Amino acid sequence: MKLVVLGAAESGVGAAILAGRKGYDVFVSDMGTILPHYKAMLDAEGLAWEEGKHSEEQILDADEIVKSPGIPDDAPLVSKLRTKGTPILSDIEFAARYTSSRMLCITGSNGKTTVTSLIYYILKTAGFNVALAGNIGRSFALQVAEAEQNGMPDWFVLELSSFQLDNMYDFRADIAVLLNITPDHLDRYGFVMQNYVDSKMRILRNQRADDVFIYWKEDEYISRELERLSPLSQLCPFTDAPTAGACAYGEGEAGADSYGFAAGAMLSVKTPREFSMPLSELSLPGRHNLRNCLAAAMATLSAGVDASVLRQCLSDFPGVEHRLEKVGTHCGVHYINDSKATNVDACFVALEAQTTPVVLIIGGKDKGNDYSVLHDLIRRKCRALVYLGADNSKLHEAFDRLTAKSGIFTADTHSMADCVAACKHLAQPGDTVLLSPCCASFDLFKNMEDRGEQFKHLVHLLSDCF
Ligand code: ADP
Repeated sequence: MKLVVLGAAESGVGAAILAGRKGYDVFVSDMGTILPHYKAMLDAEGLAWEEGKHSEEQILDADEIVKSPGIPDDAPLVSKLRTKGTPILSDIEFAARYTSSRMLCITGSNGKTTVTSLIYYILKTAGFNVALAGNIGRSFALQVAEAEQNGMPDWFVLELSSFQLDNMYDFRADIAVLLNITPDHLDRYGFVMQNYVDSKMRILRNQRADDVFIYWKEDEYISRELERLSPLSQLCPFTDAPTAGACAYGEGEAGADSYGFAAGAMLSVKTPREFSMPLSELSLPGRHNLRNCLAAAMATLSAGVDASVLRQCLSDFPGVEHRLEKVGTHCGVHYINDSKATNVDACFVALEAQTTPVVLIIGGKDKGNDYSVLHDLIRRKCRALVYLGADNSKLHEAFDRLTAKSGIFTADTHSMADCVAACKHLAQPGDTVLLSPCCASFDLFKNMEDRGEQFKHLVHLLSDCF
């Protein structure tokens, strides 16, 4: 059986190793340059690979293809394979053939990594035999390959991107979590939102009546799709919205028909088991993180975690790097790194979570953003906007009238050093400097991690108050 793996990074290399060990005749092909440690891993397994090209003849001869999520469906070679009828799988679909561990899977436009990490933290603390994999940057296939020798975990906690879901067919999640669906990656979906929505809803595929589907009830796309799809799964909605009476985030008694909700000052879950704890004890800040905590609580209770362990974990989870990460306080100014906020929605929730005046760092490689949804929050929360990008003209277009009218200071910067200096100058004691840029980082930085690291490094160097 000939298996070709397209793309030799984390997921591709993992899939190739698993396939090799399962006796496939494996060939790995990458159009770009393969990182040295991945080459070494392939060589150690005796697997054939090429870089800087796709040898079409060899690839079109495959019985099956494992495609890395980064390769778009409309790449010419992928189209040819499709026309030929060669099955194209994601690494997740392929690896799942070789494990009967239970699958707890998380997807959504925003919050995946936070919720995946939180769920893993809870299950691990509760003493479960659990492994973490998927879009979070750890190959699922490689872990399956290694577990064959060391023993399979009872559970895999998998973060799934829409690109991975696109090439999943027989995979089934025992517990699936869908956090939200907001426009993202539309360039990969023919600029048709429904295509992206369809992709996210694939997390429900093959679920049976005893499987659990946990989702945010307020999401308009999810609710609409559920009516259309009527899945067999046990539906477990959660909400952060008030309905009637007193609620944590506004007037109202929340969650009349939801299984997880915030009522008064408590986070509450009704199903699968009763659970509640004070909102004030949650370690993650902001309303969006309340939703993340509800999702994680419902998922881990479904998996059988003890309520006291859950409560402890929700109150001491340290959070994930580059997501509303506290960097430090200098001269009374708090610095927060939310470099992962690469779309408008993520910046919105980060700003909403702030309780002090904010100096907001915004900018980078624009993905066709509509910034108008931020206007009201910026008017209410921001002392200053610091633009950080190779080209800030779109930010000027979006905010100049607002900032002039509302007396919000602005600064134009093109490097992290200038940006942090401007923030230091503009912020007053008690303020928060928030890096939550709405944009991709590739104009000035290697990636969002590099942007966050540079920010943290420069903030740590701030020592004097003048
Ligand atoms: P993902 O893995 O889906 O990109 P992350 O957990 O890395 O999500 O969070 C990315 C950004 O999205 C964070 O910086 C945060 O501001 C925002 N975010 C996190 N959770 C949510 C949520 N439930 N709803 C909306 N935005 C969120």
